[in-house]
Amino acid sequence: MKNTHINPIPFSLPDIGSEEIAEVVDTLKSGWLTTGPKVKKFEENFVDFLGQNTHAISVNSATAGLHLALEALGIKEGDEVIVPSLTFTASAGVVRHMGAEVKLIDINPITLNMDYNTIKASISKKTKAIIVVHYAGLACDMDEILQLAKSFGIKVIEDAAHALSASYKGRAIGLLESDVTVFSFYANKTMTTGEGGMVVTQDPFIAKRIKVMRLHGIDRDAFDRFRSIKSSWYYEVISAGFKYNMTDIAASIGIHQLQKLPKFLEIRKKIASRYLSELSNLPIILPSDKNNNGVHAWHLFVIRLNQKSKISRDELIHYLSEKNIGTSVHYKPLHLQPYWRDRYKLTSDMFPETDKAYQAMISIPLYTLMTDEQQDYIISELHNAFK
Ligand SMILES: *Cc1c(COP(=O)(O)O)cnc(C)c1O
Repeated sequence: MKNTHINPIPFSLPDIGSEEIAEVVDTLKSGWLTTGPKVKKFEENFVDFLGQNTHAISVNSATAGLHLALEALGIKEGDEVIVPSLTFTASAGVVRHMGAEVKLIDINPITLNMDYNTIKASISKKTKAIIVVHYAGLACDMDEILQLAKSFGIKVIEDAAHALSASYKGRAIGLLESDVTVFSFYANKTMTTGEGGMVVTQDPFIAKRIKVMRLHGIDRDAFDRFRSIKSSWYYEVISAGFKYNMTDIAASIGIHQLQKLPKFLEIRKKIASRYLSELSNLPIILPSDKNNNGVHAWHLFVIRLNQKSKISRDELIHYLSEKNIGTSVHYKPLHLQPYWRDRYKLTSDMFPETDKAYQAMISIPLYTLMTDEQQDYIISELHNAFK
């Protein structure tokens, strides 16, 4: 389903093929719509994809997955969790759902990721966890962060919503020594299930707790234990759980998206490398190619204006929009969002690098269905914008 028109160019577009559609139809006809055989298959395929034995628990969003991760790690009122200011509000909102407080921190101006020094400086006696965000799909310096967390006895959750396909020092994101990693299958992510997410952990106890809490606090092991003796209606509720399970309809899409993920990554890499070379002489800062011997997932391609740009970020967005090119900004930082700003009395001078990056940044289109002609057009309009 290639888009044959050059114009308009959306910011993002899901890449859904006939395989996904046929699988969804098969599920709709099967008589089983909610969590069932397709979810089980999708979870098994996900473990195979990562390539190492681990636990993969599907959920109906990454936000749900992050919430479950914090719950399983016992984060509670009085605790503090470190989160970068340059992220989507979901990374931080879940901390408040547990009654804990968010410690927002500044970013590294080169990678746009949180780094060792800023994390270390913000650790207090109350710090119980760090939510690491691999911004745009570039892995954070995980060896340093994990070692720091270990030395302070702090848990690490990776918000890998941008980072499915990414790796760090040759190891896939999802297989590092953090406590939990959460991926997103939202419509514009590197693969989609419409809405959905996957929680990955090596810890069998955390996996068990997340499985129970994603579906009403129902203990499936008890269900299985009594199934033979009593009958299949029997279950035990061991906690006040959530309704965060994935449906077989969503998993049907996921099964095929996952198979296509290596191909998607190759296309994303190719688009990114063309942008990197063909935009290199413009008065802009291109994404860091620092990759720690890993792979950038290229969920986003974020450019930043510099002092020589002459036009403002908003003028550039307006110019591109007039040319029918969709763009976005990732993100208006949390310290500037009313809720977070007011709750923690945050000011811009506390986040100099995040603030500066935000004022200058724009995300340009990067999606697998983009044609070469469309990319040519975007590149030439970016050149025109700076003339
Ligand atoms: C998309 C996103 C989320 C939320 O993912 P959902 O699946 O929509 O809940 C969380 N964190 C970051 C950094 C994201 O980009």
